[in-house]
Amino acid sequence: MTQSLSFVHPTADSPWGTYLMQVDRVVPYLGHLARWVETLKHPKRMLIVDVPIEMDDGRVAHFEGFRVQHNLSRGPGKGGVRFHPDVTLEEVMALAAWMSVKNAAVNLPFGGAKGGIRCDPKLLSNKELERMTRRYTSEIGIIIGPQRDIPAPDVNTNPQIMAWMMDTYSMNTGSTATGVVTGKPVDLGGSLGRVKATGRGVFVTGREAARRLNLDLNGARVAVQGFGNVGAAAAELFNQAGGKVVAAQDHTGSIFNGHGFDMADLMAHVKSAGGVGGFKGGEAMKAEEFWDVDCDILIPAALEGQITAERARRIKAKLVLEGANGPTVPSADDILAERGVLVVPDVICNAGGVTVSYFEWVQDFSSFFWTEDEINVRLDKIMIGALKRIWDTADRHTITLRTATFAVACERILTARAERGLYP
Ligand code: GLU
Repeated sequence: MTQSLSFVHPTADSPWGTYLMQVDRVVPYLGHLARWVETLKHPKRMLIVDVPIEMDDGRVAHFEGFRVQHNLSRGPGKGGVRFHPDVTLEEVMALAAWMSVKNAAVNLPFGGAKGGIRCDPKLLSNKELERMTRRYTSEIGIIIGPQRDIPAPDVNTNPQIMAWMMDTYSMNTGSTATGVVTGKPVDLGGSLGRVKATGRGVFVTGREAARRLNLDLNGARVAVQGFGNVGAAAAELFNQAGGKVVAAQDHTGSIFNGHGFDMADLMAHVKSAGGVGGFKGGEAMKAEEFWDVDCDILIPAALEGQITAERARRIKAKLVLEGANGPTVPSADDILAERGVLVVPDVICNAGGVTVSYFEWVQDFSSFFWTEDEINVRLDKIMIGALKRIWDTADRHTITLRTATFAVACERILTARAERGLYP
């Protein structure tokens, strides 16, 4: 009886198509809860908003904004907001759905949500960015709130943008509501450790996976795609653990150094140049050559759909750590599994960010703030415990870590769904 959605046309490799395939693969492991599985294929609520702003030169520009609440069975919606020229409703639907799975995988009391604005933030002045952020926040204000749906940073959004969102929501509602967004500046109710939390989670899950593979991190060669908040923080931690970051790629270029980059030099270059391109401590290479690099650990930490079937055949790494959301398409997943490449999937690998977002939200409510050490100890404990449970599930059914993560998470989501029941 259930119809597929009329307004999206997913393909095998598109974000929503990828997510639907991942859900189909988990059905055999859901037991009696399989009855509810269509819930996961039908986002609860989707808002498309027009975001008109006055540009600095006096023109009026319109941007398309989205906020999707995929599933709210386990608690308020939670998930980031991205500013990118390729944002579409279909992409935001998939990103929201992956948040539902991720939040349940680490057992946070949240549903899944995501937002975005289709824009190129590099072409906007700071004032234009502020006006766009504020108008967008005002437009989605009818569905967000500290107990309803809590945005956070994602691609091209940062603590300053969260401060504007918090302020706009607070001005509209008449009182300061720090808990409406996470990833805020620390002096506005943000949490210590939040900025580096996603990269830290990638490292912690990667370290556990390496241990199980008998892969020594000391001397391990690491390649990182995307050198923003997630990729750079993870690269630094692997470097501190004795690894060598041999390749890096972002929108500014692709670089290689078989001996490993000097990380302090590379970080300084990225800060001043805005990306890895042009770094003197390595050789430039063609973008496509990045996928052929001889390495032990590959960290896609950019956008979706990067590991295609064709690239999956060429990847030399033994371990893939998905810092990005949705970087691997299903056909590539199968090829990596056949080739014995272990993939720690996004929905657990990059869950460190939202875990510390949860800590931030709790701290805002209690107005009692924790030390960075307390944050990191709690983060590591949650990530290691969640990964262990997923690994046990994978071993029990002989399935990939991705399907096992979906099995653990979807069981939690659908149990909540079934216990709450249908209304009316
Ligand atoms: N945007 C991040 C993610 O994809 C963090 C979301 C959050 O902290 O709510 O997981």
